[in-house]
Amino acid sequence: MTIEAQIKQLREELNTYNYKYYVLDASDISDFEFDMKLKTLQDLEAKHPEFFDPNSPTQRVGGTITKNFNTVVHDHRMYSLDNSYSKDDLLAWEQRIKKMVDGPVSYTCELKYDGASISLTYTHGVFVKAVTRGDGVQGDDVTANVKTIKSVPLTLQGDVPEQFDIRGEIVLPFDGFNKMNEERIEIGEEPYRNPRNTASGSLKLQDSSEVAKRPLECLLYTIVGKHLNIQSQFEGLQKAREWGFKVPSAAKLVNSIDEVLEFISYWDTHRHDLPYETDGVVIKVNSFQHQEELGYTAKAPRWAMAFKFKAEQVSTRLNEITYQVGRTGAITPVANLEPVELAGTTVKRASLHNADQIAKLDVREGDEVFVEKGGEIIPKIIAVDITQRPADSQPTEYITHCPECHTELVRQEGEAQHYCPNYNGCKPQIVGRIQHFISRKAMDIDGLGGETVALLVNEGLIENYSDLYELTKEEVLPLERMADKSADNLINGIALSKAVPFERVLYALGIRYVGETVAKKLVKHFKTIDAIIEATEDELIAVDEIGIRIAQSVVEFFNSEANQHIINRLKGFGLQLEISAEILANQTDTLAGQTFVVSGVFTSVSRDELKKMIEDHGGKVGSSISSKTSFLVAGDKMGPSKRAKAEQLNISILSENDFLSLLKSE
Ligand code: AMP
Ligand code: ZN
Repeated sequence: MTIEAQIKQLREELNTYNYKYYVLDASDISDFEFDMKLKTLQDLEAKHPEFFDPNSPTQRVGGTITKNFNTVVHDHRMYSLDNSYSKDDLLAWEQRIKKMVDGPVSYTCELKYDGASISLTYTHGVFVKAVTRGDGVQGDDVTANVKTIKSVPLTLQGDVPEQFDIRGEIVLPFDGFNKMNEERIEIGEEPYRNPRNTASGSLKLQDSSEVAKRPLECLLYTIVGKHLNIQSQFEGLQKAREWGFKVPSAAKLVNSIDEVLEFISYWDTHRHDLPYETDGVVIKVNSFQHQEELGYTAKAPRWAMAFKFKAEQVSTRLNEITYQVGRTGAITPVANLEPVELAGTTVKRASLHNADQIAKLDVREGDEVFVEKGGEIIPKIIAVDITQRPADSQPTEYITHCPECHTELVRQEGEAQHYCPNYNGCKPQIVGRIQHFISRKAMDIDGLGGETVALLVNEGLIENYSDLYELTKEEVLPLERMADKSADNLINGIALSKAVPFERVLYALGIRYVGETVAKKLVKHFKTIDAIIEATEDELIAVDEIGIRIAQSVVEFFNSEANQHIINRLKGFGLQLEISAEILANQTDTLAGQTFVVSGVFTSVSRDELKKMIEDHGGKVGSSISSKTSFLVAGDKMGPSKRAKAEQLNISILSENDFLSLLKSE
């Protein structure tokens, strides 16, 4: 085979695997095989630049930097949608339609996906560009970023029109969104607020390789163009699906407004089972001929209507705005509310995020406010009921000094949050850091809890985490609610933590941006704390997945004399500050390329130990079962739905013993 043919074949294979995995949610190749093929293709393309193709699957990893997004005029305007909220609204719409078209009308009902709208252009079956909606007439060219979204086909299959645009919504499914937030929280950053804003923000990132890391999806709903040879909306959806686009299967063709209402009422409850956010239903007159007769108003098509689901919302009084100081010094304003029932829970507090948010809402103590629970975990205040505002109300003045230590707050350029810079003298930061140090994923100190840490600091018994190792039973016994036995447990737990492996100690130090994963990476690469302390920014960045922000933060942390002193003390107490010889010897790559999902309860090892064994031997631990999973390791009490999903996808299920013998045999 010629090189060119080889490259072509690899591209086709990889495109097909991508399609199966990201569009059809089914796959018949392991991550490992996929990566190997991709690598082969990358190597061939690198050696033969004459066969470059902007739509090769290798281009999905990104790497393009866009400083300014070009403005592009849409070939076909991207309209907005009229909204309806009730059966009456829909019946009135039907009346308007009946006046303009003769005979029976059928409707396509679709879900209204809550993300960022996008228009994709294809010529001769090949992806050409992606443009945001913008003002409907012109938007921004975000082609490089959209190319990294795996469910966007780069080449189409079947008999496709010569040239067309297809519209859709780029969404960030909850799973991926939550995972991104877990990682942010872990490294002491503000979590993203909701999937929609995060999705649209992602499209405007300058570095497309950052976009490639985000689990975005593109759901399509309308084909536009000339000579399409399609007669109706529903047929269009089917065609789009055949050509390789991801078109959700919820879409339904119906013949009356009553059936539309049934669709709405079904999805009003079932939408909560979907992996992504939806905020309503879009109803479209099905026949393109009817659509043409109906035409457009200045703003929206007459042939389509959005029906908005009711967001769960209540109004209540805002009693007080207080300010919390996190372990990194970040200040978060909190609205303390008159308790109120919302979506099945009692809400007492809502986050106000930051100073800008307070100013934007002009929210004040004593106001009656509307609280809503959307895709977010924490309820949010969406507006103030000005009509109820007390006459003597005063605008909220954001605090200028730390509520805990009275140090003047700082706000770095480009950051939304205010910070208390008093790293070594601010109580909640001191306490928060020690609480982080002892937490389960860090030093996991048995017999010591967050409240006791606060007590120990308040009583002046400790000032930083290294002081823990000099505590004596006599010192802690007088503490509130400290019985003889619990004092023993505490001292004992602290002593035992000296055996906690280095990667967890490094994570426990609480270096900003150094979460569990980064800590593992650093340990694997540098092996000893001294090597990390001596590493320059450049040496740190050279490590896979360590960026400039992390590198700067690590260097800054170890530059501090106070921190150096603490580390030296920890060394003196015998904590693990280098990778153990045993671990080094035990690490293999026998499981390389395999992804394991671990579920249930185990008898001879703990679940965390099991995960660690997998990683020590080069395997990956996945969080949920997908066609990319190689094995499901099943303990007792695993949920039946997990098993069913694994069976459905033909994934091998291993018992605890199966897994252990697999490791031995390899
Ligand atoms: P609005 O932003 O409220 O004017 O609503 C119009 C937007 O709804 C469109 O720009 C699309 O981005 C979005 N949308 C989401 N799902 C659909 C769908 N199934 N059909 C049409 N538009 C949709
Ligand atoms: Zn402070």
